[in-house]
Amino acid sequence: MRLNYYKVLGCGENSTQEEIKRAYHRRLLQFHPDKNDTGDIQEFHDVKEAWRILGHPQSRKKYDAACKQEQLEEEDCPVFARLSPNDLEESALEGTLFYRCRCGENYFVERETLRQKNTVLQVMCDGCTFIIVVET
Ligand SMILES: [Zn+2]
Repeated sequence: MRLNYYKVLGCGENSTQEEIKRAYHRRLLQFHPDKNDTGDIQEFHDVKEAWRILGHPQSRKKYDAACKQEQLEEEDCPVFARLSPNDLEESALEGTLFYRCRCGENYFVERETLRQKNTVLQVMCDGCTFIIVVET
């Protein structure tokens, strides 16, 4: 399991970039080697690494996606359907496609994530534990 950078910074997945920035500065002061006489600089490095990833919306998004993917793989969820991007339907949300689940809720897939070819995407249902697998 990769390091949870949100935990490292003391913020959450829903934090805004501004909140993350503030959390980063707080942690930086807290763990700065000059102010920390325990001699343990690992946390300081973790904080810097977390900021490197979460400090930019683009890399943050990538990190979020990777974490979600990892989580799904670990959980070994039941697969509702194996699809190609063409099986997905346009949703009312811009840039988002969906596929209806048997539970009545939907699987939402951002069009952006389908751009990368030859990848296998796992998407969780909004309403139950099933997932769909989309092969691009
Ligand atoms: Zn469902």
